[in-house]
Amino acid sequence: MNSCLILGGGINGLLSALMLQQAGLEVHVLEQGVTGRASSWAGAGILSLLLPWNYGLEVNALARRGQALWPEWAERLRAASGIDPEYIPCGMAVLDVEHRDRARAWCDAHGEAVAQLPFAFAHMAETAGNVLWLPNVAQARNPRVMRALRAAALRAGIALHEHTPATRLHIEGARVAGVETPRGVFSADSVVVTAGAWSARLLAETGHAPTITPVRGQIILLKAEPNLLPGILYRHGHYLVPRADGFILAGSTLEEVGFDQTTTPQARTELLDFAYSAMPALRRAEIVTQWAGLRPGSPGNVPTIGRHPELENLYLNSGHFRYGVTMAPAAGEVLLHRMLGTAVSVDVAPYAWKCAA
Ligand SMILES: Cc1cc2nc3c(=O)[nH]c(=O)nc-3n(C[C@H](O)[C@H](O)[C@H](O)COP(=O)(O)OP(=O)(O)OC[C@H]3O[C@@H](n4cnc5c(N)ncnc54)[C@H](O)[C@@H]3O)c2cc1C
Repeated sequence: MNSCLILGGGINGLLSALMLQQAGLEVHVLEQGVTGRASSWAGAGILSLLLPWNYGLEVNALARRGQALWPEWAERLRAASGIDPEYIPCGMAVLDVEHRDRARAWCDAHGEAVAQLPFAFAHMAETAGNVLWLPNVAQARNPRVMRALRAAALRAGIALHEHTPATRLHIEGARVAGVETPRGVFSADSVVVTAGAWSARLLAETGHAPTITPVRGQIILLKAEPNLLPGILYRHGHYLVPRADGFILAGSTLEEVGFDQTTTPQARTELLDFAYSAMPALRRAEIVTQWAGLRPGSPGNVPTIGRHPELENLYLNSGHFRYGVTMAPAAGEVLLHRMLGTAVSVDVAPYAWKCAA
């Protein structure tokens, strides 16, 4: 296998591209718009499952491997691009934890550190019930990650074809012989679909489209004083994520509205109500903007990373749902294992491309 076409230039497409290129393949990326502007741009950049104890082993395995790889990737991206992805181990306070003893026991059993809540959080915790402080949870700043990845990919010699949507896969026998686009047909030894929420649509004619559906998420960006919030705060399904320069993200919604990426006044009210009740001082913060992105939703949050059940040169790396940024470096390892037989430390079986029922 000498060449590879990647369909979709989000975090999973660009990281897969970099890893495959480093493994010696000639890599081309086809992106329908501009790389790194879809879900991977819109996310909050929390590098952790929100409540890990509520997820299955296969979701935790990929997330934890991703968390372990992120410090090195952040440094590699910074060195290759000159753009700092702002990887920061900032910790996460989970307020009003349900079943605290079970959550605590899970953390102890799985090596997730739990520590005393930092003093700066104490006044918030007064109004909350059970609290867990997870000091090792980190964050990265999505737009910076994606700009760094794009620059690193270009510098590595990867061909990025932006404004080039893959419109159809040409199938001959048991292979994808070419990928149709408005700019002509592209072909390569192997084809990897990393089209996020759009992946199933692109694979509809292959007979085994995965169950990946768009789930809209909205976020509101506030501007406050730096260090007002000492770490990520999670409460009742919502979160606040503080950036180093004082911006604070309030997120996020979970909405099944198809491919509609508009923002709504209802989400604005929901997110501001949460932000102000979690942290009354934010009432004085400037509301900067609101945005929406489409997560690649999948059952149980388990992504598909593997080869098509029938087409021998077609692969998928998608369906990471709420945790595609956290998982991306680990998902790339699983993909390389599937394609090139390289070593991998997680059990890859749960992510296999299943035959359509
Ligand atoms: C509001 C919100 C908050 C989030 N917060 C977090 C978080 O804190 N932590 C975390 O880990 N994850 C988070 N996520 C989830 C995470 O952002 C996604 O799981 C991840 O970005 C998916 O990456 P991807 O590369 O698979 O998809 P995308 O980033 O969506 O990239 C897919 C790309 O494929 C392109 N494409 C689609 N169809 C075609 C085609 N036919 N031809 C060519 N190109 C095509 C698209 O234009 C797009 O650029 C969040 C998501 C949202 C929306």
